[in-house]
Amino acid sequence: MATFKLEIVTAERMIFSDDVSAVIAWGVEGQLGILPHHAPLMTMLQPGDLMIRKGREEEYLVISGGFLEVRPDKVIILADACERVDEIDVARAEEAKKRAQETMKAAPLTADAAVAEATLRRSLARLKAAEKRRRKPPRVA
Ligand code: ATP
Repeated sequence: MATFKLEIVTAERMIFSDDVSAVIAWGVEGQLGILPHHAPLMTMLQPGDLMIRKGREEEYLVISGGFLEVRPDKVIILADACERVDEIDVARAEEAKKRAQETMKAAPLTADAAVAEATLRRSLARLKAAEKRRRKPPRVA
C-alpha cells in the first residue's frame, strides 16, 4: 500500500502525524484529494471536514480553515483550529451558531456580522462533521 506522511498542526498542538494513503479536504475551489506522489502544492483550506484514509480505515476531523502544503517528503496541514470528530462539543457548536446568527440578524453588513459569518461557517462545519460521528456504526471489539 503506497502511503505518505501527513502532519496536521495548529498553533496549540500536533493533532495528527502518521503515514496515510489519502486525505480529502475542502480547498478554496472545492474538495481536494491528495494521494501518494501528488505534485507539490500550496493551497488555502476552508472550514470543513477532513477525511484521512489509511488502508481500509477512515478517520474524520474538522478544521476551521488553514493551509495545506504538499512537499516532496510530506503533506502538512496548518489549521487555525482542528478537532477529531470525537472531540467536537456539539452543544458549544450549536451555541456558537445561534450567537452568530443573532449577530448577523441584529447588525447586518457590519464588521461584527462579517466576524459572525466566519463563526457561523466554523460552527456549521463542526456540526456537519459531528453528524458523521453519529452515523458511524460503533466499533466492534
Ligand atoms: P467558540 O465561539 O465556541 O469558541 P469558535 O468557532 O470561535 O467557537 P475557534 O476560534 O474556531 O472557536 O476555536 C477556539 C478553540 O476552541 C480551538 O482550540 C478549537 O479546537 C476549540 N473549539 C471551538 N469550538 C469547539 C467545539 N464545538 N468543540 C470542540 N472544540 C472546539
